[in-house]
Amino acid sequence: MNRIQGIHHITCMTANPQQNLDFYTKVLGQRFVKRTVNFDDPGTYHFYYGDNVGSPGTIMTFFPWAHIAKGRRGNGETLATSYAIRPESVDWWQKWLTEHEIEHTLETRFSEQVVVFADPEDMIIELVATTDSYVPAHWENGPIPAEHALQSFHSVTLGVHDATPTAALLTGSFGYELVGQENNRVRFKGAGEYAQYIDLLVRPGHARGRLGAGSVHHVAFRTVDDSEQLEYMQALRSAGHMATDVKDRQYFHSIYFREPNGTLFEVATDAPGFLYDEPVESLGAELKLPSWLEQHRPKIEEILPEIHLDSYA
Ligand code: ZN
Repeated sequence: MNRIQGIHHITCMTANPQQNLDFYTKVLGQRFVKRTVNFDDPGTYHFYYGDNVGSPGTIMTFFPWAHIAKGRRGNGETLATSYAIRPESVDWWQKWLTEHEIEHTLETRFSEQVVVFADPEDMIIELVATTDSYVPAHWENGPIPAEHALQSFHSVTLGVHDATPTAALLTGSFGYELVGQENNRVRFKGAGEYAQYIDLLVRPGHARGRLGAGSVHHVAFRTVDDSEQLEYMQALRSAGHMATDVKDRQYFHSIYFREPNGTLFEVATDAPGFLYDEPVESLGAELKLPSWLEQHRPKIEEILPEIHLDSYA
């Protein structure tokens, strides 16, 4: 069993699919790489954004539930999602966000600059200026010039009451290393070449989060294949974590469990990936359904709200 190779994808919740689509494609310049449904709730979309080909470590996904209330951020969930950018892109992004009337602040963390802002539903997004970043497959038809485009994810920040049990999981089964501490922030680094940081923000007694629009639903970590995933399942179960059986998510296979402070984690396979059912040129252009839902397509299409991809080339 290899050490975990970093973040695979991050899944969030939105109450406004069109606004969400516009923000992630037009403002953040992520490609809409898959338009499908929530396999556990097929009357709801599942949107995937990422680099040009949907590389693991760049994938941000959303379940749009039209009528959900706004979430409340707290412990036991992801507080912030960070992308890596090049250090020379900090000024460019500050200007770009100002042009789009998005308030932002500039912080310094572990000697790196971090641009902090929120998406339209108050979900915190950060851009970490780092030379330690991966250049994904750039979306040439997107709005951001290649030299300033978001790189892979940099990290997620989890709110915890007590770092000890989550740290034990990360440094145990997952193979992360403790690499730094600054105030109440503790940083761990995984084995992969990118998307390999996890920060814990230690806030004893802070209220738990409540899931809703603008919340991160879960964080998925990378494993190379099905057999390694089974090893993870066994290792997690023997360490006392309630890992689920394997679920077929069409573009990857998944197991889920809650880390000791309450955040939902997933371990997902890299294969088969997002080119499984459509070519790179037309990723995201059409609603894709797995074979077991194809027979219900007319009904599903009738229920789903209409969306417009006017920035799609
Ligand atoms: Zn997932």
